[in-house]
Amino acid sequence: MKELFSGVYRIKGKLATINSTPGFRVYDEKLIKMKKREYRMWDPYRSKLSAGILKGLNDLPFRTKSRVLYLGASSGTTASHIADICSQGLVYCVEFSRRMMHELLPVTQRKRNMIPLLADARDPLGYLHNLGYVDVIYQDVAQPNQAEILMRNSEIFKPGYAVMAIKSRSIDAIKNPKEVFRDEINKLQEKFDILQVLDLKPFDKDHVLVNMKAKR
Ligand code: SAM
Repeated sequence: MKELFSGVYRIKGKLATINSTPGFRVYDEKLIKMKKREYRMWDPYRSKLSAGILKGLNDLPFRTKSRVLYLGASSGTTASHIADICSQGLVYCVEFSRRMMHELLPVTQRKRNMIPLLADARDPLGYLHNLGYVDVIYQDVAQPNQAEILMRNSEIFKPGYAVMAIKSRSIDAIKNPKEVFRDEINKLQEKFDILQVLDLKPFDKDHVLVNMKAKR
């Protein structure tokens, strides 16, 4: 077992986080007990962040005490692993689908550092009263204006870092994905220094993960 980043481990070639709620599974992930700790295996086919790490992410901005704004939390697959990593921090989970929120709530009831927010990421003023500044924004929303959503949230919550999954087909289903990614990244450069762009194949088709540092 090797610690790749703070709170992220490689066990027999696979990724894992330390389960902050031993015995509790969020999806159908495997739990492994080693040296008095329980690890949750982190599936790269279910989580773009796990895929990005396996594709060679150089740096992960999450720390034990980080405050994270997670846009597009869905049922909490990736958000729960970030909550394991930031075990003394907070992960604000924004999700606008009531159906997904229904699945997310039982997870947030167990993982108490995940705060569920039923809200639209396109309208950050709608949840401004729930949180202050954050250290990192993680965004994975299938929307046509993904870069604008991240920038709007960054203007308000002032993260030092952002990690964003871009899905080309949500932005333009006909255009060449490479052009879609280039255009989105050009927009992001107004507010962020781009640290790394990772193609998520074979784990996810037509997706990249972008790791960024906010310009000050
Ligand atoms: N990030 C999740 C994970 O790895 O576990 C998967 C996210 S899924 C690809 C995208 C999610 O974003 C969906 O649950 C969808 O309902 C949500 N979403 C899309 N547009 C949104 C918006 N404007 N505000 C909040 N959530 C949104």
